[in-house]
Amino acid sequence: MRFTFSFFFTILISTVAFSQDLLKVDFYKITDGYVIYADNNELSPVSVQIDLDLNNMRSTMGNHKIFVIPPQVSNYEITRAITIDKSQYSNFHVNTLSGLGDHTQTDYDYEYSYDLPYDSQVTHKVIQGYDGRFSHRHQHALDFNIPAGGRILAARGGVVVDVEDRNSRSCESRSCNKFNNYVRVYHSDGTFAEYTHIKRGSSQVRKGDRVTQGQHIASSGKVGWATGAHLHFEVFLMKLNKKVTVPTKFKISKNMPPQQLVAKKSYRKDY
Ligand SMILES: [Zn+2]
Repeated sequence: MRFTFSFFFTILISTVAFSQDLLKVDFYKITDGYVIYADNNELSPVSVQIDLDLNNMRSTMGNHKIFVIPPQVSNYEITRAITIDKSQYSNFHVNTLSGLGDHTQTDYDYEYSYDLPYDSQVTHKVIQGYDGRFSHRHQHALDFNIPAGGRILAARGGVVVDVEDRNSRSCESRSCNKFNNYVRVYHSDGTFAEYTHIKRGSSQVRKGDRVTQGQHIASSGKVGWATGAHLHFEVFLMKLNKKVTVPTKFKISKNMPPQQLVAKKSYRKDY
């Protein structure tokens, strides 16, 4: 009796502009089939949807599911493809779709007190707030009117998971989203912050760096989809094909509890 195995392994890269280039999904042979595993060298979890096309095989952990791979692990077993009838031909194809973050997560630290992302004793206006008509429809995002070159500080500590500061083009339409410069930081509660439109070459941090709250991370710019220099700030959870932005509370004044920022209001940082 002869067993013939043939395997096709296809990786579909996520269409989200949110790379996870340090994730590898692969497999190795065991007696009755194959172990499908992941190496994740990212500093945040990575979620991967595994879609198996099974021929005379079954998956021990089910199919068409999202698996969350912890940060910095190797040989993390996702599932096993096991041959059902060993006297017959069997094979499998696997497609993966992956992105940074825990895509099963819905909870986070709602009460976290973010710092205003600029220097002490400085005042800036929120020129567009949540659900803003210009570019924040259905988004919990804030635009701070920080002039070009103004210092941007980390609103919260975490790990830098992505940086782009090589772009310089901008325009006033969505088509320029692809030119956005940004710093993305992963927080301990599973959320990410994005600081967008930063000036070309201004990032003070690199992927993999740990940043503390208040640390200088970049300078304001007019890059990407922007009508003028400003800082776009948002905090979000990742869902397989999209970001889900979440509301945040900021410490405005030493003696006041943190609160949500409102469009058209100016905030002086007195701490
Ligand atoms: Zn914005």
